[in-house]
Amino acid sequence: MESQRRLVVVHAHPDDEASKTAGTVATYSDQGARCVLVTATGGEEGEVLNQALDNPDTRSRLPEIRRMELDASVRILGYDELVLLGYRDSGMPDSEANARSDAFVRVDEDEVVGRLVEIIRTERPQVVIGYDDHRHYQHPDHLRVHVTTIAAFEAAGNPERFPEAGPIWEPARLYAPKFSRAALSRMHDALVNMGEDSPFDRLLEGWDPSEIEPIHARIRLTPETLRRAREALRAHATQVDPDGFWFKVPPDLILELNPYEEYELLAARVPQPAEIVGDLFAGLDERHI
Ligand SMILES: [Zn+2]
Repeated sequence: MESQRRLVVVHAHPDDEASKTAGTVATYSDQGARCVLVTATGGEEGEVLNQALDNPDTRSRLPEIRRMELDASVRILGYDELVLLGYRDSGMPDSEANARSDAFVRVDEDEVVGRLVEIIRTERPQVVIGYDDHRHYQHPDHLRVHVTTIAAFEAAGNPERFPEAGPIWEPARLYAPKFSRAALSRMHDALVNMGEDSPFDRLLEGWDPSEIEPIHARIRLTPETLRRAREALRAHATQVDPDGFWFKVPPDLILELNPYEEYELLAARVPQPAEIVGDLFAGLDERHI
């Protein structure tokens, strides 16, 4: 147990674990690391984006269906455990759901941090993955994951914080998945060249190309880990259009144009051995593992 690599990944909604960090988790799971997924909300505000499944029955049972989709995705990616925080999806920015008292954004911040601290102290991960400040996608639940994961990464190692949550544990590094402008731009050009609509044009328009993008780690996708990442996304059948942009770009082209899942290092107790690493656990020797 003590020599095992352990990874805790925190996501906001069911399906976030399939659209981000999926190839990374498939990679580490295959290498024998223990991988734990924490999903903050049930995705209750999600719309049915797959026309073939958009009917009153699906809409009325959406939370139950999303839970089954999440279980399938977790199995495909090789997570060892799924922890549901059980908060309610806060919906898109400025929507009515933000104001509900049970919405994730309205829950006391310290309560959320305490629960994450308990998970970190129980699982003892060397590496935690949360979110960055999402300058280009301001979903309130994602920002909430950003703030609470940073706070929990710090607090887990502080005996004065949440003493009831177990003996302290100091994870070595906290990362956040990134979609770099360069990578999106390559995908955009490929779709346009194939005569397809690109979903990235609006995003790229508001994105200053001179903006510095902090990328500190790159996990290389293989045909197998990419296949599993896509299969996990397809498992969220109500949430993805099977003819949608995620599946328009052939796998070979992704492996050629954008063969990495990229990460920003948000916090570190043990520095990386290089400015950009190909392994989130790089340089974490026996003492830390
Ligand atoms: Zn989300």
